[in-house]
Amino acid sequence: MTDCVFCKILNKEIPSKIIYEDDVCFAINDINPKAKKHILVIPKEHIESLNEVQDLNLIKDLFSAIKKINKMENITAFKTHINTGKSAGQEVNHLHIHILAN
Ligand code: AMP
Ligand code: ZN
Repeated sequence: MTDCVFCKILNKEIPSKIIYEDDVCFAINDINPKAKKHILVIPKEHIESLNEVQDLNLIKDLFSAIKKINKMENITAFKTHINTGKSAGQEVNHLHIHILAN
């Protein structure tokens, strides 16, 4: 997707530190953190939102990555959230899971 901030980060068109990467997804620190640690876990495939997910194995893979990231970042207590749709607060139309830890 050409006009997508997360695709641009993945394609190195926008500089950002990728803190985790595997075959399916990558993770970055949120630019506007709402907790001491605020990480975004993002599938490499451009999928607009949870509503467009066809293969639910993706969700399993994303949560599997979250467990690895949390171990790496020494996060044991955290919230995860997914905003789906503009009126629910989704600003970037590329699926992502927030990890929030204080
Ligand atoms: P959402 O509101 O669920 O769509 O979340 C989008 C998140 O992406 C927000 O928390 C933004 O702060 C974050 N964000 C937007 N642009 C960037 C960027 N270039 N690098 C890191 N995080 C970003
Ligand atoms: Zn995208």
